[in-house]
Amino acid sequence: MKRELSSLQSWREMLVEHSLDAVIGIDSESNVIDWNFQAEKTFGWSKEDALGKKISSLIMPEEFRAAHHAGIKLYLQTGIGPILNKRIELVAVNSSGHSFPIELTVSPINVENQILFYSFVRDISERKAMENALKEAIAQREEFIRVCSHELKTPISSMKLQFQMAKHMIDKNNPKAFAKESIEKRIINTNLQLDKMSKLIEDMLYATKISSGALKIEKTPIDLNEIISETLITFEDQLEISHLQVSFIKSTVPVIVHGDRYRLEQVITNLITNAIKYGNENPFEIKIEIHQNEGRIIVSDQGIGIPRDNLDKIFNRYERVDSDTNVHGLGLGLYICDQIMHAHEGKILVESELGQGSKFILVFPLLN
Ligand code: ADP
Repeated sequence: MKRELSSLQSWREMLVEHSLDAVIGIDSESNVIDWNFQAEKTFGWSKEDALGKKISSLIMPEEFRAAHHAGIKLYLQTGIGPILNKRIELVAVNSSGHSFPIELTVSPINVENQILFYSFVRDISERKAMENALKEAIAQREEFIRVCSHELKTPISSMKLQFQMAKHMIDKNNPKAFAKESIEKRIINTNLQLDKMSKLIEDMLYATKISSGALKIEKTPIDLNEIISETLITFEDQLEISHLQVSFIKSTVPVIVHGDRYRLEQVITNLITNAIKYGNENPFEIKIEIHQNEGRIIVSDQGIGIPRDNLDKIFNRYERVDSDTNVHGLGLGLYICDQIMHAHEGKILVESELGQGSKFILVFPLLN
């Protein structure tokens, strides 16, 4: 029987020693009487260091110590222990003074008429970091939906207004409503708003595709001069209506890269859209050049520019620079451009000064 007991005891000791939780025992004076291997790992104090020390001075931040001693006193006097025998989350400190979140359970046990307290403690830094990242992602998604709804509403409201005005004129038999120029103007305007909406929707869908890793690129040889000419055609109406000048400086020789035509058009469209949106109604320039063994598309505007501190951030998802302008956006365009350029073994660079305009440079490896 005695042998059985001692082997049971050594089993228990082994279990405690090998527990994945830190197991800490203290007496009614808060002195450490047990400290397993995991406690050494979690808190950085060896068993030798810890035994006999007050637990409060070893692992508790200063501000929790008084409450801990009061809690033990209350339990010893009344048997009431609000935090005992349940899982609670607290903050602990390790031997280098670093504080981190822990989850612990504390159970009182009576050993030969002496009250001892045993705790199972777990470092939950990783779990907390994941929870926080998840919360942030949810908040970001909610903000994204809010901005998307707002952005989609703007062209819809503009179109609705156009149609209401047209209906009003028709109701009043206003001959202007049937005039060719007036109808043409409305069609062009509606078309622009629809283009804006479909670009927004495309960006939204595309950004979700990127984050789920479903970005597909189908490459063929493409001349950068050609792709710019083709993309500029889609901007003709918009440039004409806003009386904007664009100079396109082609390279004297074809600049052939290996690219996905549709995706590259998307990148160029984003850069041109931004040069218009943030360009302060000034003319802008697109230039193609060969630089060493790279092909480059350079889009330069003379607009509001970007503060130096924000230059790195603008390629992040949902990132927008706070400015006084009324320009709307999802903060997705440059993120998408950056991702597409990476998928082409290329990159996107920016040079800008606040109030001095911006230059976006697309860099591609040349196809030999
Ligand atoms: P969006 O224009 O939808 O906000 P983008 O990802 O295209 O999103 O751009 C991110 C931010 O970078 C913009 O909100 C704007 O502050 C800044 N930005 C982009 N292009 C320009 C530019 N040509 N001139 C000034 N600021 C720009």
